[in-house]
Amino acid sequence: MDTPTEVLHRVFGYDSFREGQQEIIDHVVGGGDALVLMPTGGGKSLCYQIPALVRRGVGVVISPLIALMQDQVDALRALGVRAGFLNSTQDFDERQLVESEFLAGELDLLYLAPERLRVDATLRLLAKGDISVFAIDEAHCVAQWGHDFRPDYLELSRLHELWPDVPRIALTATATPATHAEISSRLGLEQARHFVASFDRPNIHYRITAKNEPKRQLLEFLRSEHDGDSGIVYCLSRSSVEKIAEFLVDNGIAAVPYHAGLDARTRALHQSRFLREDGLIVVATIAFGMGIDKPDVRFVAHLDLPKSLEGYYQETGRAGRDGLPASAWMAYGLNDVVQHRRMAMEGDEAHRRRQVLHLDAMLALCETVTCRRIMLLDYFGQKDSQPCGNCDTCQTPPESWDGTVPAQKVLSAVLRLARERRQKFGVGQVVDILLGKKTAKVLQHGHETLTVFGVGDDLGNAEWHGIVRQLLAQGLLAVETDYGALVLTDDSAGVLRGQREVLLRRDTLRPARAKTSSSAKAAAQVELPAEAAPVFERLRAWRGATAKEQGVPAY
Ligand code: ADP
Ligand code: MG
Ligand code: ZN
Repeated sequence: MDTPTEVLHRVFGYDSFREGQQEIIDHVVGGGDALVLMPTGGGKSLCYQIPALVRRGVGVVISPLIALMQDQVDALRALGVRAGFLNSTQDFDERQLVESEFLAGELDLLYLAPERLRVDATLRLLAKGDISVFAIDEAHCVAQWGHDFRPDYLELSRLHELWPDVPRIALTATATPATHAEISSRLGLEQARHFVASFDRPNIHYRITAKNEPKRQLLEFLRSEHDGDSGIVYCLSRSSVEKIAEFLVDNGIAAVPYHAGLDARTRALHQSRFLREDGLIVVATIAFGMGIDKPDVRFVAHLDLPKSLEGYYQETGRAGRDGLPASAWMAYGLNDVVQHRRMAMEGDEAHRRRQVLHLDAMLALCETVTCRRIMLLDYFGQKDSQPCGNCDTCQTPPESWDGTVPAQKVLSAVLRLARERRQKFGVGQVVDILLGKKTAKVLQHGHETLTVFGVGDDLGNAEWHGIVRQLLAQGLLAVETDYGALVLTDDSAGVLRGQREVLLRRDTLRPARAKTSSSAKAAAQVELPAEAAPVFERLRAWRGATAKEQGVPAY
């Protein structure tokens, strides 16, 4: 029997294990159960593939990524690994061929879509074979708390009842402490050994910017920092995916759309072009990306606010798997917040509460004045990180300013509308009132006679929108379900009475253009927090080196 290290060299052609892999593999080879939390690109596949090759019998891998199974299996076969898969895309003959290989002991690895396990025939088939290990990939799909719940995953707890002696390894790249606990109990892995790798992806530069002209901002980001690079641009809706992809193509940038509304052929084509071609951009909804293994994705951009930090971190984690510098860039604005609050109100009570918590955490990240990475890692249970030196807030610490007075103006406009007029309005009308604009809608409702009319003409439209956005993020203002009307919260009163100070990010008041300079340039000009400097120096040396290798001048 080969040892794991021999298999690593001989079959996969790698020199050494990555952090955590050997311990996990040894544990599973020895027959132990494992729950593995490791970031995207960390190398989870080997953690079950090698035990499957070392132990006697077939390794059965449960994966929701049906569209990727063929590719995964082809890649393994190219390495000489006897792999096969069973899912709903196959016809009867194809399935039979795999089943007979399985029964004849001619497979090392069998990939199964979770819904296959609902079919009795599959269970009977498995019972006739010799199984070395069960691997449950993307294990967060079993957690309702998470963002990618799949009911079929709940059935996976049965595997242990049916095959108590076969070791199980569950793996995921996305787990807050709450999701971690839920995976563990739903899959009955409380007694398993839990391996938690560091979730930090230090080579990814995090940046979040205020959205005003998203298309122009995206184009500027791509042209100034990612000319000719492969990357993913995430949008919330199918229609914006189409529009943005078209916009990029019109501007001479190679881009293809991907969303669940496209036919399967087009999706498969665009996905495989992304994997094989250099410098192609996929504009996609979140339907794209899980399990995609492309090491040189240089950026992940979000043009809309993701629903949760779990989703965001997993999506951005698709950048820079090769360890070289990569960017996670996001533009977000007030409309995103309003839209998400509205969407968060759908579904049952528990679902709503969950959505609101997810959104609050997302907003807290967007509006933070401290290191983005500290916040992200903290959210995923990794406490006490140091400022990273490789995010926008580390490199250009946003000043905060006392925004109590403007906050009071916004809140009192909302209060006056409610008290004096028994009315509620969205942000547009409230800002028009503050600015003293006599629009048709203002005149129609007689809002020019409110005492707050025109009290905010010291600031502009964009500034007021930024302030409202931050008040929403801080929970000092809320958006109502149906029409996106602004309403006060329990915490508003303290601000209105002058008992509570409101600190706002300074960049709210800075024109957006000034902020879109390249991060590298901005970083070189600003003073860094003392603890971040050494990290940054290393990174700068490193970036300089890669830039030189590519024949472009380092900045
Ligand atoms: P994950 O499932 O954790 O996102 P993968 O298993 O897809 O990550 O691995 C990510 C990439 O890292 C793959 O290209 C894989 O071949 C590579 N990789 C994994 N382990 C090693 C290793 N020990 N040495 C070199 N490359 C590795
Ligand atoms: Mg994986
Ligand atoms: Zn940082």
